[in-house]
Amino acid sequence: MSEPFVVVGGDAAGLSAASKCKREQPDREVIVFERGRWVSYAHCGMPYYIEGKVDTLGDLTSLTPEEIADRGIDLRREHEVVGLDPDAKTVTVEGPDGTFEQAYGDLLLGTGARALTGPFDGLDLDGAFTLHHMDSAAAIRAYLASPEDPAVVRDERVDADLVAHYTDLEPPERAAIVGGGYVGVEMAEALSAHGLDIHLFQRPDQLLPPFGDAVGEAVAEELDRQGVDVHTATEVDAIEGDDRVERVRYGEESVDVGLVVVGVGIRPNVEFAAEAGVDLGESGAIATDEYGRTNRESVYAAGDCAEDRHAVTGEPAWVPLGLTANRAGRAIGQTVAGEPTPTGDIAGTAVVKAFDLGAGRAGIVDEARARDAGFDPVSRTIEGSSRSGYYPGAAEMTVTMTADRETGQVLGAAVVGADRAAKRIDTVATALDAGLTVDELERLDLGYAPPFSPVWDPVLVAAKVLGGAVDAE
Ligand SMILES: Cc1cc2nc3c(=O)[nH]c(=O)nc-3n(C[C@H](O)[C@H](O)[C@H](O)COP(=O)(O)OP(=O)(O)OC[C@H]3O[C@@H](n4cnc5c(N)ncnc54)[C@H](O)[C@@H]3O)c2cc1C
Repeated sequence: MSEPFVVVGGDAAGLSAASKCKREQPDREVIVFERGRWVSYAHCGMPYYIEGKVDTLGDLTSLTPEEIADRGIDLRREHEVVGLDPDAKTVTVEGPDGTFEQAYGDLLLGTGARALTGPFDGLDLDGAFTLHHMDSAAAIRAYLASPEDPAVVRDERVDADLVAHYTDLEPPERAAIVGGGYVGVEMAEALSAHGLDIHLFQRPDQLLPPFGDAVGEAVAEELDRQGVDVHTATEVDAIEGDDRVERVRYGEESVDVGLVVVGVGIRPNVEFAAEAGVDLGESGAIATDEYGRTNRESVYAAGDCAEDRHAVTGEPAWVPLGLTANRAGRAIGQTVAGEPTPTGDIAGTAVVKAFDLGAGRAGIVDEARARDAGFDPVSRTIEGSSRSGYYPGAAEMTVTMTADRETGQVLGAAVVGADRAAKRIDTVATALDAGLTVDELERLDLGYAPPFSPVWDPVLVAAKVLGGAVDAE
């Protein structure tokens, strides 16, 4: 019998791999080490739990520890892997009963990422949070809700002292969000549902920079329309208070707040792997090949801690998102079970909801980035409608699309609008993976009926207009 398949990290990448391997090779021993109490949880749902759209934190989990055990997986929660010896093929694990060495036949690093805390102090104050842990979501919800709120659960996985502490504090009336990426935008909506005054600070001059200018402007307008004070091109210098957050300071100005959520980015958890000689890529995440293999034999990496290959550039890219983690984990599970399976390229496809708007992006949207990647980009922005104009519920939609002038290859696009505009980006993601030109994209046979789309879907219109520009220039 071969040595076990050992997985570090009990969430999207790790458990997808463990489940797939166990299904394909039921006799293989599969061990998952997770340093926390939560497993198989959806970070992505935390803003919606805080908002109140999701009743309990437990609703954000897909598998319980018992269900994982039923799959025959040896799940060890509260076990942290602190070291790796790729020559001896062992990991060092710290658990409740002490430190031990675990041998592996194959190893998956699915350690995820952690939130950056920004260049300022004050995150240790009561009322200041990052949002990269279920306990933070529980604490924020407890802080906003009344003690009687059934959502403030006494779940055995939650840090009960933390929740009790925030339940006892007077709820805040005003909040600051630092960072205008997708976590910041989603949290603006979540906190406004609780009636708070919200100030959102963004250092660059637009929100959601990877989505491009048109999306950034539309989302800023929507936030403004919903009563959020958006401060772009504004850097927060300090979060201040005695024990509890009292204000955020920016330049000569400050605003009094009782809650701060910092969402300024994440960093991959790679430390013990890097110390063991596992190569990192330029992004700082673990370098992998098309099967998720690292430079060390039988050591794989997937999810937020790992790079993938970009569908447009063919170069390594770090785009830490949920499907990427699940998909790569599943492929690696299949590979270690004996059927080598590529993890798949990524197009950086992302969607985000901002109150009544949805935005999506895929591929390379930014012309400067396209030039850096060796393309000669040309872009066009069009306005379209989500349904036939005469059909109730039709909403405006903006599509920006970029192509390479020389070859006509579609490089990327961004979409923004109401009425589920965001998911239209999936057509573009498919085109990117297939390496389509704008002419080929324009000729796709997409579905049409008045309640769903105009005859010419806005993505096709964008391809048509961009095709004209490519031909003309
Ligand atoms: C607020 C928020 C909203 C998001 N929304 C979206 C969204 O809408 N769409 C989307 O695509 N993505 C979204 N994401 C990103 C998505 O959640 C991640 O891409 C995904 O969770 C990555 O999965 P993972 O398994 O790689 O890492 P994680 O989910 O971070 O899991 C890694 C696990 O490894 C454990 N671990 C780390 N180090 C060790 C160690 N040394 N020993 C043992 N265990 C260890 C950690 O405790 C953790 O449980 C969101 C993220 C956040 C924070």
